[in-house]
Amino acid sequence: MSQWVYSFGSRKTDGDASMVDLLGGKGANLAEMSSLGLPVPPGFTLSTDVCAYYLRENSTFPVGLRKEVRKSLDEVEAIMNLTFGQASKTLLVSVRSGARVSMPGMMDTVLNVGLNDQTVKGIAEKFGDDCFAYDSYRRFLQMYGDVVLGIEHHLFEDLLDEHKAKKGVTLDGDMNADDWRDLVDEYKVLVKREIGTSFPQDPTEQLWGAIGAVFGSWLNRRAVTYRMLHDIPEEWGTAVTIQAMVYGNIGNDCGAGVAFTRDPISGANVCFGEYLINAQGEDIVAGLRTPQPISKSDRHKNLLKTLSMEEDLPEVYDELTKISDRLERHYLDMQDIEFTIQHGQLWLLQTRCGKRTTKAAIKIAVDMVAEGLIGKTEAIARINPRQLDQVLHPTLDPDAEPEVLGFGLPASPGAISGRIVFNSADAKIQSERGNKVILVRTETSPEDISGMHFASGIVTTRGGITSHAAVVARGMGTPCVSGAGFLAVDCLNKTLCAAGKTFFEGEFITIDGASGKIMKGKVPTIKPEFSNEFSRFMEWVDEIRKLGVRANIENPADVKNALAFGAEGIGLYRTEHMFFHPDRINFMREIIIAVDEKKRRKALNKLLHFQRQDFSDLFTNVGKLPVAIRLFDPPLHEFLPRSDDEILEVANFSGLSSSEVKVRTGQLSERNPMLGHRGCRLGVTYPEIYEMQIRAIFEAAVDIISSNMTVVPQIMIPLISKKSEFEFIKAIVDDTAEAVKREKGLFVDYYLGTMIELPNAAICSGEIAIGSDFMSFGTNDLTQTTLGLSRDDTSSIIQTYLEKSIFLADPFVSLDKDGVGELVKIATQKSRAVRPNIQLGASGEHGGDASSVQFFHEVGLDYVSCSPYRLPIARLAAAQAEMGIKKYCN
Ligand code: PEP
Ligand code: MG
Repeated sequence: MSQWVYSFGSRKTDGDASMVDLLGGKGANLAEMSSLGLPVPPGFTLSTDVCAYYLRENSTFPVGLRKEVRKSLDEVEAIMNLTFGQASKTLLVSVRSGARVSMPGMMDTVLNVGLNDQTVKGIAEKFGDDCFAYDSYRRFLQMYGDVVLGIEHHLFEDLLDEHKAKKGVTLDGDMNADDWRDLVDEYKVLVKREIGTSFPQDPTEQLWGAIGAVFGSWLNRRAVTYRMLHDIPEEWGTAVTIQAMVYGNIGNDCGAGVAFTRDPISGANVCFGEYLINAQGEDIVAGLRTPQPISKSDRHKNLLKTLSMEEDLPEVYDELTKISDRLERHYLDMQDIEFTIQHGQLWLLQTRCGKRTTKAAIKIAVDMVAEGLIGKTEAIARINPRQLDQVLHPTLDPDAEPEVLGFGLPASPGAISGRIVFNSADAKIQSERGNKVILVRTETSPEDISGMHFASGIVTTRGGITSHAAVVARGMGTPCVSGAGFLAVDCLNKTLCAAGKTFFEGEFITIDGASGKIMKGKVPTIKPEFSNEFSRFMEWVDEIRKLGVRANIENPADVKNALAFGAEGIGLYRTEHMFFHPDRINFMREIIIAVDEKKRRKALNKLLHFQRQDFSDLFTNVGKLPVAIRLFDPPLHEFLPRSDDEILEVANFSGLSSSEVKVRTGQLSERNPMLGHRGCRLGVTYPEIYEMQIRAIFEAAVDIISSNMTVVPQIMIPLISKKSEFEFIKAIVDDTAEAVKREKGLFVDYYLGTMIELPNAAICSGEIAIGSDFMSFGTNDLTQTTLGLSRDDTSSIIQTYLEKSIFLADPFVSLDKDGVGELVKIATQKSRAVRPNIQLGASGEHGGDASSVQFFHEVGLDYVSCSPYRLPIARLAAAQAEMGIKKYCN
C-alpha cells in the first residue's frame, strides 16, 4: 500500500534529508532535523506523489489519504497536548508548500489553520491575550480568503486601511483587541459577499481547503514562470507540510527570524542573520519593521541602535549558534535557517542550503576545505562556472531598485553607468574630460573602434552576441548590451527613446552586460576583487583540468590581461583590429581602393612597419607561450568609406578624386559581406595583403630571435573551405618564409594551421589536415554557416526561437551540439586519422561557455580559446568536465 504522509517531530520520524524528491526540501529537512533531536514543532508532510495525484485527478485526493492525515494529526495533538478544532487547548497548524528545490515566495502558505469563532476564544484565554488571538484570526481570514477562497488580497487590505484611517493610526501595532475583533467581523462580511457563503468554521474543512490550495499553487502564474526561468520540470510537483503552529508574536520574549550559518554576502565564517522581537516570520518578509541583527558584532559593524539577539536574548542566541554550527557540520554546507522563539523557547521551522554571492560561495568552499569539512573536488563541484562572471566584473548592487528601460542581449558582462554619447568623437571628448560614457550605436563600424576604446560601456540596437561590437567589447572587458532593438536611437539628432522616455546626449544610463538590462540614471554597482580564496580555488581547478586554455586577443597589450586570467597561450590573435585603428584606417582604405596590384603593394608597404612592430610587441609579451596569429579576416566591405566626409578624407589621403573613390567603393560594396569578400578569399584575390602580413610576422620573429629570445609563430588561415584553397595560401606562407630567410640569413621555425569555420572545411578536414600543423574551430562562423543564421542580424529571430522552444539555448552562446558539434566531431576524427598529433582547439565565443567546454573536452580537443575575462569560466568548466560534473551544463 502506498504511503502518502510522512511524520516528523513526533515519536516516529518517517523521512530524512535524502528524500527531497518525495518530501520536498522543507519536509525532508524537517524530518532530518527532528531525527537529530533538534527542536522542531511536530508535523507531517504530504508527499509530491499526492500532488501528482491531485493535479492529475481533477483536484481530488487519493483513497486512504484522509485516514493517514488524521492519524498523523493525532500524533501531533498527543505531542503538543492540544486538540485540533477543540475550543480550549486548541491546536493550530500551518500548511506550507515545499518543492525539491527552493522556489522562494512562488507558492502559497496558510498559517493559523483551525481558528474559528470558538477556538479564537480558547487561544485568547490560553495566552491571556485577546489582541494576539483576534489579530491571528484576522490574519487567517485574510490568508485563507486569498489563497483558498480566491478573494483578492487588496480587498482585505483596503478594509484594514479604512479601519486604521478611521482610528487615525498607521501601524498594526496601534490596533487593539476590539479593533481586530471588528475587523474579523468585517472580513467575514466581505467573504460572504464575495463567495456567497460564510467563511468555513469547520477546522477539518479549513485544513483540506488549505491542502488543496497549496498543491494547486504549483500551477499558479508565479510558480510556472519561476519554473520556466530555472528549468524546473512541472512533473516534480510540490509537497505540503503541516506543522503545529508556534508563535513569535505573543510578547517580548518571543520573535521570529532567519539565520545563515555563514555570511551569505562575504562568506565570512560568522553566524549571520536578523530577527524581530514579538513578530511572525511573515512580518520580516513584509518589511514593515526593521529587523534586529543576531550578533553583537553585526550591530556594531552596521552602527545599529537596536539590540542584537546576543544582547537581548543571550540564552536563545547561544542555543541558535550551537544549532547553526551543528547543522552546518551535518549538512557540510552553509545553511539558511528559519526560526521562531516562543516565550524563550527556540523552534526551527526550516533549514536549507543558503543562497550566496559568488564571492561568498568561493570563500565558503575554500574555507570548508581548510576546515576539513569537504575535499577540493567537492569545492570545485559546488561552483557554477557561469557564476564566476560575478567576481570578474562589477555587478549591480543587489539592494538597488533601478528603473529598467528594457533588455538587449548580454554581450559582454559587467555593470556600468555613464553618460550617453552617440559617436566616437563625442566618446573621446567626454572621456578626456574625465566622464564615463556609454556609446550608443545602431551597429558598430570600424570607425567606432576608437569610440569603443574610450567608452566604459557599449550599447547597440542591432547585432548578436558574436557581432563585431560584442566580440571587441568582450576582448576589451567592456560591458556591452547588443541587439537592444527596443531602443529607438537617432544618432544624428543624438536622442534615444525607450519606455516612452526620450534621453539626450550627456544623460546617465546604466547597463548590465551580464543580463542585457538597460536602466535609467546611475545605478550603484559593486566592484570585483580577486580574493586569495579565488586564486587558491583556481589553482585547484588547474590541477584537475586536462583541456588547455588560451586567449583570444586583438592587441599585443591584451596579452598581460590574458596571462593574468590564466591563459596558457594565445589561441587567436585577430590581426584586423590593428587595421581598424584610427591611425591606420586610411592606409587600409588606400589598399582597398587601389585599382591594381602595383598601387596596392605601394599602399601595403606603408603598413608593413606598423605590422612588424605589432608582432614584435606580441612576441615579446607572449614569451615562450604558443601564439596563433590569424591572417586578415574581416569583410572588406566593412572598411569602405561611407559618408561624403569619409570619401573626401580617403580621396585626399590617397591622391584620388572623390568620384574615383566613390566608383571603387561601389564596385567593392557587397550584399552579404559576411559570406563574401573576407577570410582567406582576400588572400586569394589580393595575395599581396597576406604576403605583407606574413613578412611582418617573420621579420619580427627574426628580430626577436636575434635578441636571443625564442618564438615559434603559429600562422592561422581563416575561412578555409577546401584543400586547394589552403594549399594556395600555404604556398604564400612558405615562399615568404623562404624569402625572409634568404634576406636575413636566419630561418624562423613556424607552424601553419587553419581555422575550421565552414561545414565544407569540416567535411574535407582529412585532406586539409595533411598540410596543417593545427586547426582551430571558429565556432562563431561555423554556427553561422551551419545553421544559416547571420551572426549580426538574427538576434530577434533567435529570441523568438527561444520563446517558442525551437532552440533551447542561443546557438551563438552555447554550441549546437547535434549539428555544429557533429561537424566538430567529424573534423576531429578525420584530421586525427591522417595526423594523430595535430593540435586541435576551439576559438569561437563558445570557448568561454561551460556546456560547450564540456563538449569540447568530450570530443578530445587540446584546448579552448576565449576572451581573457572568460578564461576562469573555461578553466572551471574544463575541470568539471574532467570530473564528469554536468549539472551546470544545461
Ligand atoms: C569564429 O568564427 O568562431 C572566430 C573565432 O572568428 P571570428 O569571430 O573572428 O570570425
Ligand atoms: Mg570566424
